[in-house]
Amino acid sequence: MQVVVNGARLELVQGDITRETTDAIVNAANEALAPGGGVDGAITRAAGPAALEVRRKLGGCPTGEAKLGPGGNLAARAIIYAVGPVYHDGRHGEADLLASAYRRSLELCLAHGLDSVAFPAISTGVYGYPMADAARVALATLRAFLAQHGQPRRVRVVLFNAEALAVWSSVLSQLESTSTHE
Ligand code: ADP
Repeated sequence: MQVVVNGARLELVQGDITRETTDAIVNAANEALAPGGGVDGAITRAAGPAALEVRRKLGGCPTGEAKLGPGGNLAARAIIYAVGPVYHDGRHGEADLLASAYRRSLELCLAHGLDSVAFPAISTGVYGYPMADAARVALATLRAFLAQHGQPRRVRVVLFNAEALAVWSSVLSQLESTSTHE
């Protein structure tokens, strides 16, 4: 599924984010920026040792923030390490922190002239964020940012399986129909 927001493309696809050819890919990292499993394990392996060495020197990253490192062996030029919240019950500021992780990643793209970026579904794996809730927060944040800035010109969310893609597509359709009827 794809929509256009202020001239920028917002795309939902199913796949393995390590294969993306966008200028940057976003990694769902932890505060220590220590290599982990899930999407991080896949990105860390694919990016190789040079990218890992730089990452170790970034000095960690607070929840809701993001830091930029080189793409190493990836097709992407840069890896953005974004730290989403661990989900407790939704009443511990999780939505604001998740929105912030997406927004800070987009700000880094603009600051570094990265015109296309691919995101995974941050916090929806080990961190336990319910998929539909995460999709609502993420897509509202991405749409608002693009509506304001019109860039990055292409933003992709790469969902790992068909169920996740279906959930995100349905949330995006709802957001689109609400906004056109405002
Ligand atoms: P977090 O700790 O932020 O929850 P995870 O890596 O555990 O991060 O999961 C985040 C999401 O990334 C999950 O929805 C998971 O299914 C998905 N994922 C795992 N591997 C990949 C991959 N190679 N490409 C895209 N998404 C992936």
